[in-house]
Amino acid sequence: MNARPKRLRPARPNATAMTRSTCPYCGVGCGVLIGRDAAGGVVVKGDPDHPANFGRLCSKGTALGETVDLEDRLLAPRVNGQDTDWDSALDLVARRFREVIAAHGPEAVAFYVSGQLLTEDYYVANKLMKGFIGSGNIDTNSRLCMASSVAGHRRAFGTDTVPGLYEDLDSADLVVLTGSNLAWCHPVLYQRLVAAKAARPAIKVVVIDPRRTATCDIADLHLAVAPGGDGALFNALLAEIATRGAECSAFLAYVDGYPAALAAARASDPALSGLSPADLAAFCDLWIGIERVVTVYSQSINQSSSGTDKVNAILNCHLATGRIGRPGMGPFSVTGQPNAMGGREVGGLANMLACHLEIENPSHRAAVRDFWGAPRIAQGPGLKAVEMFRAVAAGRIKAIWIIHTNPVVSMPDADAVRAALAGCEFVVVSDITDRTDTALLAHVLLPATAWAEKDGTVTNSERRISRQRAVLPAPGLARPDWAILAEVGRRMGWPAAFDWQSPAEVFAEHAALSGVAGQLGSDFDVSDFAGITPAQYEGLEPFLWPQGPRQRGGRFFATGAFHTPDGKGRMIAVTPRPPARATCANYPLRLNTGRTRDQWHTMTRTAKSARLNQHLGEPYLEVNPADAAALGLEPADLVRVTSPDGAAVLRVLISDAVRAGEVFAPMHWTGETASAARIDALVAAVTDPVSGQPESKAAVVRVERLAPAWYGFAVSAERPADPDTAYWTRTRATTGWRLELAGDATPADWEDWARGLFTLPEGTAEAVTLFDPARGRARIAFHAEGRLIAALFTGREPVALARTHVVAKVGAENPAAVLAGQPGADAPDPGPTVCACLNVGVTQIRTAIESGQAMSVAAIGAALGAGTSCGSCRPEIAALIARFAPRTAAE
Ligand code: SF4
Repeated sequence: MNARPKRLRPARPNATAMTRSTCPYCGVGCGVLIGRDAAGGVVVKGDPDHPANFGRLCSKGTALGETVDLEDRLLAPRVNGQDTDWDSALDLVARRFREVIAAHGPEAVAFYVSGQLLTEDYYVANKLMKGFIGSGNIDTNSRLCMASSVAGHRRAFGTDTVPGLYEDLDSADLVVLTGSNLAWCHPVLYQRLVAAKAARPAIKVVVIDPRRTATCDIADLHLAVAPGGDGALFNALLAEIATRGAECSAFLAYVDGYPAALAAARASDPALSGLSPADLAAFCDLWIGIERVVTVYSQSINQSSSGTDKVNAILNCHLATGRIGRPGMGPFSVTGQPNAMGGREVGGLANMLACHLEIENPSHRAAVRDFWGAPRIAQGPGLKAVEMFRAVAAGRIKAIWIIHTNPVVSMPDADAVRAALAGCEFVVVSDITDRTDTALLAHVLLPATAWAEKDGTVTNSERRISRQRAVLPAPGLARPDWAILAEVGRRMGWPAAFDWQSPAEVFAEHAALSGVAGQLGSDFDVSDFAGITPAQYEGLEPFLWPQGPRQRGGRFFATGAFHTPDGKGRMIAVTPRPPARATCANYPLRLNTGRTRDQWHTMTRTAKSARLNQHLGEPYLEVNPADAAALGLEPADLVRVTSPDGAAVLRVLISDAVRAGEVFAPMHWTGETASAARIDALVAAVTDPVSGQPESKAAVVRVERLAPAWYGFAVSAERPADPDTAYWTRTRATTGWRLELAGDATPADWEDWARGLFTLPEGTAEAVTLFDPARGRARIAFHAEGRLIAALFTGREPVALARTHVVAKVGAENPAAVLAGQPGADAPDPGPTVCACLNVGVTQIRTAIESGQAMSVAAIGAALGAGTSCGSCRPEIAALIARFAPRTAAE
């Protein structure tokens, strides 16, 4: 059966054969080439000329063409559930915001925006809130991602500057990856490191992570640090640097604070890292003994109640040794989102101004106000994300505009966020779909253009600004975000200030403002582009900032020149702290959360790709075998996971990749895709006191085995209704939809129940049934015109079926054949997908290994193609080889 037909669109009239753009997912910021295929679909390839990826893409980037159909798109403005025209919707938004401000002041309104926005969108939103409404109440979901890095940079460097470049990974002799599952979360950067290590095997790689992740595949040393123990680890390193006399006294002349930082490091207990003295010594030997060292860090550092201190503990080591701003050396924060950096540049965080200027600084505020010709300017920082939704709950914020983000799923204490928005006077949501948990609570829904329809710029983790270019026309009434925001600005009474005609004009204004900021000492200065024309903007090549004479090889701080009043960097005294919440008898396990390889955030786009859904297609809880035994858990059991803040129901995955006493769950599933898997509902809204970033990776939970009366699996050509049962997940598949199910009460009539699930009333489809009451089994296949349109399989135990085979049968003739649940001997089931690019399953790979046909990742690639495209699955292939390779007699 072929893939389901998509609603396709014509190309924009001016779209070229292959348009250069950027991937909209992670902060690597890969360049892509977008074209059209003969069937009218979109094809996406890596851009060989883009310096972020040189043609490589990961599985998510490769599947972008499968995410641009119009199914579930929001195509018209909607007010209180009714479609309307733009004038009515925008007049209402402008009027309601004006009324709230008039009655309660500017602090009673807020914008909550996203690292998915393009820089031009972000710029307009920030200008409207901070310069014209006059409040700092604009914050971004990047607060959940890298606010601690921003705060750490500002404390150490005086400004939010990433000192290094991706090419430092090629030239380093030691790469330390701490709190970063680079293999899954930044796959193209990981593959770059893999290639560098293959070319120069002397490169050492250290992975610091409580879990044994796919990234450990290339680790010379894996340090399974205790949750929250990174600060103690880097303090131990700083103390050892001093003990061995490995400081760089010449560089320390550029830095203040070393004695206090060292005293704090010496006073802290290395045992808080959770590592043995031998592991600590091995790490110190490597780090101190190898000069060219890059320390890459990401969410496990940032998403912590001591995240800013952890960042500074890392920066302290680089500052003490002068290993910063030179080729192959430096601390390197990699961002989660495609334009988190662009958001930082325009001041999209509540505690930033614009162009890296300080909102607390009166002369900075005056300069920005004068540049904008603004009637008022925010007089200080606004509410950070967690504070913002608390203010909504308390009724202090009465109108909020949420743009391209889904806080009802992604914010900590997500149930409280849902309740806050449900009680808010006026909620506006701009998005590409109405199928999000947050959109369900909107009074006004505004249809925005999506990735392939948008023009603008993004900045990746190494400060490289690239164009995102539109290749598809805006569908229905959808509009670009910058234009929607500008329309509201005009309707609120500031027509001249929001009078741009194109994103090129917005970019030019942003560039001009950066020149003002540069004169005030900001590192972010792209004012060379202040006079950019629309044609130049259209052809803009990717570039690093700063530009011109300030570029200095693209790196910062090799010879000091920090952005502090005296030009000196600052080392910070760090006293490590454990996670804010301690485990206890009621909540004995520590819950870590994170991303999976093939999904993105709350799945509004990646879940459209059946291919991507085949990799880890159900929300799960990784449990160590010792804990599983203590809890009486078997593989594929369902468990209720409960924290003091909320609960979820997840499938058990028993794995020694997590330590005993710790569990892991992915953060992607929503109320649209599962019955109870919004994992951030379990996460406490405790934050870092400096950055305001929530502690997303250290919740405390208990786990209880569920004993449902029945388990089930279903497939359907059409979207099934929300199942009326205790547990369900709903996923797009190549031939329609697939569901995992479980229930506490067995339906009296399975066929009736299934007809309700599939919306197939009597007379619309024939049923073939197979009941085995003694074993509690029911199997039903529905067919029309001789072809299978839906099937349900249930039993008292988790249903063991060849799922890929069953999914493939939808649409096939001989519908009764599906009831066997297994393919014939002539058509083996490939098993769950490992290689999403080439659709190779675990059973195929296992067979090749066990037969001795392929015993290395390269041999699997040669035999099956797996791992030969984006490479994201190579660590999993290596793990399968380690697990299934035939043992020799000596072993
Ligand atoms: Fe996109 Fe993958 Fe590149 Fe990230 S690594 S930008 S998700 S293609």
